Amino acid sequence: MPKKPKTFLEKMNKNVENNTSIITKYKQLNTKYADNILHCASSFFLEKYFSQYQKLDNPQISYNDFNDSVEKMKPFFLCKNKFCSNCTFLRSRKLFVETYNILDNIVNVKNINFIAYHLTLTVKNPAVEHYKTCQDTMNKAFKLLVKSTSKYKFKDFILGYQSSRETTQNKDARLRGELHPHIHVLLLLKPDFLYDCRSKMTKNDILREWNMCLKYFDPTFPESTQIALQKIKSKTEAEASIYGKSVDLQNNAIAEVSKYPVKISDLVDMPIEDFKVLDKTLHHARLITYGGIIKTVRAELKFSDEKIEDKFLNPEKYKLYEVKFYELLNKKYIEKPITELEQAIYEDMKKARKRKLNKPKTKSRVLGECPPV
Ligand SMILES: [Zn+2]
Repeated sequence: MPKKPKTFLEKMNKNVENNTSIITKYKQLNTKYADNILHCASSFFLEKYFSQYQKLDNPQISYNDFNDSVEKMKPFFLCKNKFCSNCTFLRSRKLFVETYNILDNIVNVKNINFIAYHLTLTVKNPAVEHYKTCQDTMNKAFKLLVKSTSKYKFKDFILGYQSSRETTQNKDARLRGELHPHIHVLLLLKPDFLYDCRSKMTKNDILREWNMCLKYFDPTFPESTQIALQKIKSKTEAEASIYGKSVDLQNNAIAEVSKYPVKISDLVDMPIEDFKVLDKTLHHARLITYGGIIKTVRAELKFSDEKIEDKFLNPEKYKLYEVKFYELLNKKYIEKPITELEQAIYEDMKKARKRKLNKPKTKSRVLGECPPV
């Protein structure tokens, strides 16, 4: 049996728990950040939407029995810190929807054929004090690997990519004082990559080019011994029961690769000195970058938070059923009645959203409506 997904509120309560340890770390490094995370999403409205289709199909059942619902949070304040659990969680949801819509456009509007892969580029774990230089070299090497004018062969197969930089630290790395930076890449490759025997490239060829790019910027850079390259496959039936069968599963899996790359669970146990280095290095760094067709379509669709939201909360398909108000009390979210003041704030938020809306419309044939996230 697949695990029942956590409710929105359960996830938010878990985020508060994770943030406790991040706040403790920031208290020693930057009290302003600690304070911001403490107040992040401490009160919010939660809107619940239901699929109109499901109601049409089952007019006799009540909204409470629906499994196809979308919850949309409207917080009073978000801290936007890279390591805040709330903000990471919300960014992941947005990124998922954004990638889904980009791929939808490539498949259905542009009619471009591709084979999707998940490439993970790794290096030998650097010691914490060498993390920044290592991260810089990796970023430059990746750019070179995919650059259209580079002499390397792999780039000839790439139609588009979305890359995210992740840094983790398992127990062994923690004991050795090392970090594990790596780059996840959602790759849209030309079908030639699989079918053209003359120009065929293996995983080892890609690894060799990755090492050449690293050494181009730093000849002493330790040899990377492995990378992961997986063709993105359809999801299983079990997962389909969670995500809904109306969704094209293969493309749903592609969007899964694009989750926002901060693993909060690793940060919780990270020693303060290591966290300090990570925070300083990633403070202004862009964790997600785009190239090729993904970059072009992304620019065409001009994503903003409001437009993303509108994509999966299309009023013709989803109906707002209820609005609840929650406040953080003793590290748990408690439902509170909506007083006149909160009602006025909520109306103001809605008006502000309407002013910003400027719907771009693309027709879907295969993917259909973005799945609820
Ligand atoms: Zn936050």
